[in-house]
Amino acid sequence: MKTALISGASRGIGAAIARRLSKDGFAVAIGYLNSEDSAQKLAEEICESGGKAQAYRLDITDSNSIDETLKAVERDFGQVDVLVNNAGIAEQILFTDISDESWKMMTDTNLGGVFRLTRAALPAMIGRKSGKIINIASIWGETGGSCEVHYSAAKAGIIGMTKALAKELGPSGINVNCVSPGVILTDMTSHFDSETMESLKDETPLGRIGKPEDIAAVVSFLASGDADFITGQNISVNGGMNI
Ligand code: NDP
Repeated sequence: MKTALISGASRGIGAAIARRLSKDGFAVAIGYLNSEDSAQKLAEEICESGGKAQAYRLDITDSNSIDETLKAVERDFGQVDVLVNNAGIAEQILFTDISDESWKMMTDTNLGGVFRLTRAALPAMIGRKSGKIINIASIWGETGGSCEVHYSAAKAGIIGMTKALAKELGPSGINVNCVSPGVILTDMTSHFDSETMESLKDETPLGRIGKPEDIAAVVSFLASGDADFITGQNISVNGGMNI
């Protein structure tokens, strides 16, 4: 049984990815930062339905937390075959109001976190000459989001990092891809008022807001053998909002 480690899987898109990869036959390591209860409940839910899952505290801004988690996952499951860099944070703010702290936090979590966790997971994958890294970026990393410049910059960085790393790791048999969600209904977007949601729907050719499962399905494909010849790609899952 292959193992997938998913950062930020306690809720939202990450939780949907954990459920889907478990359904696909992966043992899943569920990373959480603060939402321990929901991560534990998700692990129980997966185990009760016949899958293999365990929750781990994993702070992607902290290299020690990353090292401890990887050690624990390897102890419990043997190895990490698929790494899904999903954890992220967002903030809506005017560019001129972004403080140094906020810039640092947004880039260090969203981009630095992908760097740190990937760097730590890679030596074992390189040693085995196999592995899949799937990064969750954003439509705003592709198009730029007004009042989310720091977030957009970090997510654009993830897309660039995906392409560069795919070139470096191809000879080691490791696929690196990225999925850029459009607007998906999770806690991250739950504060948008109904008027904003309606206008976002109107801007979307497929006429609806995305579901976490829409993203999980594409991650599932990229994690599968069917995607073995795909690397360095950014797959946009946005209902046509950016074509
Ligand atoms: P949520 O806000 O619903 O969940 C965020 C997750 O990230 C939580 O599990 C949280 O853990 C975790 N997290 C936050 N900070 C850290 C950290 N420092 N270390 C480890 N984990 C952390 O987000 P979504 O599910 O909506 O988003 C998932 C990903 O998809 C993000 O990268 C986001 O940028 C991206 N995305 C989302 C879109 C959307 O419309 N929802 C659109 C485009 C991209 P905990 O709760 O345990 O603290």
